[in-house]
Amino acid sequence: MAEWEVVIGMETHVQLRTASKMFCSCSTDYLGAPPNSYVCPTCLGLPGALPAPNRVAIEQVLRTAIALHCEIPRHSKFDRKNYFYPDLPKGYQISQYDLPLSLNGWIEVGGRRIRIRRAHLEEDTGSLKHAGDALHSAEESLVDLNRSGVPLMEIVTEPDLTSAEQARDYGLELRRLLRWIGASEADMEKGQLRVEPNISVRPAGSSELGVKTELKNLNSFRALHLAVQFEIDRQIRVLEGGGAVVQETRGWSEAERRTFSQRTKEYAEDYRYFPEPDIPPLEVAPEWVDRLRAGLPELPADREARFRSAYALSAQDAAALTGEREVGEYFEAVVAAGVEAKPAANWVVQEVVPTGADVPAERLAGLISLVQSGRINRDQGREVLAEMRQTGRGPAEIVGERGLAQLSDEGELVAVVDRVLAENASAVADFRAGKQQAIGALLGAVSQATGRRANMKVARELLEARLSRS
Ligand code: ADP
Ligand code: MG
Ligand code: ZN
Repeated sequence: MAEWEVVIGMETHVQLRTASKMFCSCSTDYLGAPPNSYVCPTCLGLPGALPAPNRVAIEQVLRTAIALHCEIPRHSKFDRKNYFYPDLPKGYQISQYDLPLSLNGWIEVGGRRIRIRRAHLEEDTGSLKHAGDALHSAEESLVDLNRSGVPLMEIVTEPDLTSAEQARDYGLELRRLLRWIGASEADMEKGQLRVEPNISVRPAGSSELGVKTELKNLNSFRALHLAVQFEIDRQIRVLEGGGAVVQETRGWSEAERRTFSQRTKEYAEDYRYFPEPDIPPLEVAPEWVDRLRAGLPELPADREARFRSAYALSAQDAAALTGEREVGEYFEAVVAAGVEAKPAANWVVQEVVPTGADVPAERLAGLISLVQSGRINRDQGREVLAEMRQTGRGPAEIVGERGLAQLSDEGELVAVVDRVLAENASAVADFRAGKQQAIGALLGAVSQATGRRANMKVARELLEARLSRS
């Protein structure tokens, strides 16, 4: 079905990690607080209140912009975006229109550069609660302005994405970057990362863009993937049925697994943007940008590439070690403590990340060395790690005290191997019939029979030697 080409551009809103709101000193730490308890005249939009921009929020956007390889113009300003909605107390949102903080960047997603059109700064709205409860009828809507005025960054891409998977991967890559540099916690379920895909399809090879729809209310990466795929299929169905796609905003119903029309855009909204008169234009000094650039950590994509080349790690290991910044730093500390990169990566990816083990890197390095040297086997190493986590004691101490040592004695192992071969005739037959994987079951049985003490390298050699005899 290469008849249709998919075109997707993303608009993403990100709640920035700051202590206070965008234009007042109210705390942003309102989650779980009673409604309307984190408010002041400014974020309530009371007449006469004046906004004072939050420097940290501006810096978070600039840091993100640098990480997204954007241009940062010297001059920027805030504008008023006028519209009426009950969660917007001033009747306008302070945002940025023609002079955003940054422009023209890119982010790499699955080996392709996705162009970033702009990243700008604005303020969040309050939130509405519909629904009846003991005190309110179902027709009533309640307004909570705790979120009003929280710093919000909007990042817009060019229409460069071409599938539902890519749309999801873009979201994942952006989340990794935002968390990595500390710009946002970017938790989708908490609404800190709101991804809005714009989707259209066109006949393959066409250079004109098709009519797009925009999706809202996606609060997981799974929903993002499913909703975009649904929308692609729906648009193709409409077009193949001789119909036309209507430009509109659509929501995602998790229960029904489908998108539905929320609001049609028959004509472009007129927000009557004009410069915010209460905030002077911003001048972004190049020295300021340089200082922020110098303060950024090595970026995730760069570190991932470096891990592959400097340590000869597989793509999967490099990705797993750079999902979060701390993991890669931990891995490098294990290597610095004298462990080879490959086993260090194995242990960190397979044992430390899934269990959230918080043992010091030098101690994990000590444990890995005991396994690498053949003193204990991998299973025993795993047990020692569990005990290290529980007791905070070192690996050599635990191994010594418990008298752990793997069973490498050939004589003893031969007896076990022969018994296992005799008891597992079908696995032996499978192996002899060419099913190489059957040796896994036999190795498992040897391990089991020795209380997981067997030196698996020796066991494998013995098994292979016996199986190759006819
Ligand atoms: P709007 O004014 O409706 O918000 P914009 O032109 O500002 O539209 O674009 C918003 C987002 O939609 C951007 O990410 C852009 O890349 C994307 N986009 C624009 N046109 C299309 C299209 N025809 N198909 C898919 N995405 C599009
Ligand atoms: Mg839009
Ligand atoms: Zn306030």
